[in-house]
Amino acid sequence: MARFLKQGKTQDELKLVDSQVSEIVSGILADVEQRGDAAVRDLSAKFDKWTPTAFRLSDAEIEQIIAKVPEKTLEDIKFAQTQIRRFAEAQRAALRDLEIETIPGVTLGHRNIPVNSVGCYIPGGRYPMVASAHMSVLTAKVAGVKRVVACTPPIRGEIPAATVAAMALAGADEIYILGGVQAVAAMALGTESIASVDMIVGPGNAFVAEAKRQLYGRVGIDLFAGPTEILVIADASADAEMVACDLLGQSEHGPTSPAVLITTSEQLANGTLAEIERQLTTLETADVAGKAWADNGAIILVDSIEEAVVEADKLAYEHVEVLTENPRYFLEHMTNYGALFLGPETNVAYGDKVIGTNHTLPTKGAARYTGGLWVGKFIKTCTYQECTPEASAYIGEYAARLCDLENFSGHREQALLRVRRYGKATATV
Ligand code: NAD
Repeated sequence: MARFLKQGKTQDELKLVDSQVSEIVSGILADVEQRGDAAVRDLSAKFDKWTPTAFRLSDAEIEQIIAKVPEKTLEDIKFAQTQIRRFAEAQRAALRDLEIETIPGVTLGHRNIPVNSVGCYIPGGRYPMVASAHMSVLTAKVAGVKRVVACTPPIRGEIPAATVAAMALAGADEIYILGGVQAVAAMALGTESIASVDMIVGPGNAFVAEAKRQLYGRVGIDLFAGPTEILVIADASADAEMVACDLLGQSEHGPTSPAVLITTSEQLANGTLAEIERQLTTLETADVAGKAWADNGAIILVDSIEEAVVEADKLAYEHVEVLTENPRYFLEHMTNYGALFLGPETNVAYGDKVIGTNHTLPTKGAARYTGGLWVGKFIKTCTYQECTPEASAYIGEYAARLCDLENFSGHREQALLRVRRYGKATATV
C-alpha cells in the first residue's frame, strides 16, 4: 500500500490558488481585447515595469543584441539547436501524408498541413529561459509554420540577450520583448501593432498557462504547460545524493513546482530527506527550491515496482526520472508522463536544455491526454475524398438511406442526386 513519508499541499489548497489566477487572467484578457495596444502598454508597466518605445525589436536591434552575446554562448545555443532540429526533423519525416482506395473508386487521404501563424511564448520572469526559444520557435519552423511570432519578458528591466539570440537563430519572424498574459493576449487576439496568430505555444507560469487555457478555441494551443513538476522513481539501487539533487533541480523553478519521490526503499527515502537538507545549505537558489520542497515536495513509499507504476501513472507528471535497476520496465509499463528519463546517466537538465527532445511538456495531469510539444502539434492532419462516377452511385445509395435514418432530407437529396446522375436515373430511397 502506498503511503506518504512527506506530503505537499492538498488538492483544495491548490484549487484556491487556481481560481485566483483564473480571475486575474480573465480581467487582463478582456482589457487587451477592449483597449489593444494601450492595455498592453499599461499591463507591461504594471507587471514588468517595462515601457519601451516599441515592444517589437527591429532587425538592427536584434543584431546589436546578438553582438553582445559571448561567442561561446552562441556556440552552445547552436549546439542545442542542432540536437533539437535533428530530432524534430526525424519526427517530421515520420508524419506521412496518406492516400488509399478503400473500395474500388473511392479514394480517401490526408495531408499534413502546418498552421500558418504561431505565437511562441518564451518565459523569463524569474530566469532567462533561453532553451524555450529552441523548443517552440525552432520546432514550429521545422514543422513548416510560415509566420512565427515570439515574445519574452524583460528580466528585471533588461532585455535577455541570449534568449533573443536563440529566438533569432531558431528563425523567429517577429521578436517582441513583452511578457505574461499581456503578451499571450496580444498574440492571440491581435492589437493595432501585433497581427493575431492562429495558435499559441510555449510554457510559462500559472498566469501564462491559464491565459492559454482561456484563449483555447479562439486560437489553438499546444498544451497546458504550467509550473514544472518532477517525479523521481527510485529503488534501493539509487544514489540519495543524486535523487535529492534532481528533485531540488526542478524545485528551483518556482515555489509552486512540485517534486515527488516514489520509492520502494525507506532507507533511500530517509537518505534523500537528509541529502535535501544538506544540499539546501549550499544551493544558490535554496530560497526558492527550499520553499517549493517544503510546500510541494512529497515522498511516497510503495511496496513494489508494479505499485510504483500505478502511483506514477496517477500523478501523470511532466518529468519522470527512473533511477531503478531496470529503467526500461517503466518505458514498457507507464502510460502517463510528459517525458521519461531512463537511468542515472541522463536527467531533466539534459532534456530541458540540450539533448534534443522537447522541454515544453504537460503539467497538472495533462499528461493523461497529451504528450509534449513536437512538430506534430503544429500540423493539421486534414482529410480529403474523391469518387469515380460508379463509386459515387454505389456509396450514394447507402448515404441516402443513412441520411433518411437521421431525418436529414436535404442530405438525402444531395446523395440521391449523385445516384441519379451517375447510376440509376430513377433512384429513390
Ligand atoms: P513567465 O515568463 O512565465 O512569467 C512572467 C510574467 O508573469 C511577467 O512578465 C508578468 O507579466 C507576469 N506576472 C507576474 N506576476 C503576475 C501577477 N501577479 N499577475 C499577472 N501577471 C503576472 O516567467 P516565470 O514567472 O519565471 O515562470 C516560468 C514558468 O515556466 C515556471 O513556472 C516554469 O516552471 C515554467 N516552465 C514550464 C515548462 C513546461 O514545459 N511545463 C517548461 C519551462 C518552464
